[in-house]
Amino acid sequence: MVKIIKKEVLTPQIKLMVIDAPRVARHAKAGQFVIVRINEEGERIPLTIADFDSEKGTVSIIFQEVGKSTIQLGELNEGDHITDFVGPLGKEIEEKNFGHVVCVGGGVGIAPIYPKAKVLKKLGNRITSIIGARSSDLLFWEDRMQSVSDALYVTTDDGSYGEKGFVTSVLDRVIQKEKIDLVIAVGPLMMMKMVSLLTKKYELPTLVSLNPIMVDGTGMCGCCRVTVGKECKFTCVDGPVFDGHSVDYDELLARQRNYLEEEKRAVENWLM
Ligand code: NAD
Repeated sequence: MVKIIKKEVLTPQIKLMVIDAPRVARHAKAGQFVIVRINEEGERIPLTIADFDSEKGTVSIIFQEVGKSTIQLGELNEGDHITDFVGPLGKEIEEKNFGHVVCVGGGVGIAPIYPKAKVLKKLGNRITSIIGARSSDLLFWEDRMQSVSDALYVTTDDGSYGEKGFVTSVLDRVIQKEKIDLVIAVGPLMMMKMVSLLTKKYELPTLVSLNPIMVDGTGMCGCCRVTVGKECKFTCVDGPVFDGHSVDYDELLARQRNYLEEEKRAVENWLM
């Protein structure tokens, strides 16, 4: 059992929770994730660690209420307990001075890009961040991203805040005028695919963090398999961070839609 010590509503459907989980916090590294189970009957929800404080023993998670389990999680409040909070799982990103790193975060993907930018900034990298959301009311953590970036660009699809357009338009512009050593992108699969197609043209090393359907998170079930460079990889133990140019996005996009009907029905039954 772990305790929720802080809850913040970032946007109507995106919530932040700070969890008292000293053992996870002590070992956590940027890029890793946890699996949350609300109660004994609960579904396992994989969530990338958005922040952690090993001294205070806390781990922050950010999630979008998209299905039954995330809606249920969002109904919990400060002081409530979560039955299982397993982690840190997966591999951390390589922590070194690459030079100039461009961190791209789209929508909820802004949460998992933050710890990566933070640790790389600490290691002396120059960080340019590009964050984007559909509209201003879906944008969060601009201040946090600013605090770990040498330059920050903000986009909204509808132009309600920052620059109108996708994160990829700004990335294209930054690529044209600056030398870049590494691009890291986290967000919807289609965004990571488009970022990777763009950076491939310029032969810029690119990392993406994948979030396929996942069950156990420890390499046993194979649900999170993904083709990377023609090899079958398990996102939970081989990732979640992979070379963006080698991921078979189309296969992953199709696999993500496998249970849409069941997911929809579960939400409808829960809300009835
Ligand atoms: P969204 O659809 O609102 O997109 C967020 C931003 O991504 C957009 O504002 C745009 O700048 C960019 N984008 C989207 N489509 C693009 C395209 N075709 N080309 C270029 N840029 C594009 O995102 P959302 O609703 O906040 O995100 C939800 C998705 O993010 C879910 O599918 C979720 O699974 C995924 N997600 C991924 C991770 C991860 O670790 N990879 C973490 C959290 C959420």
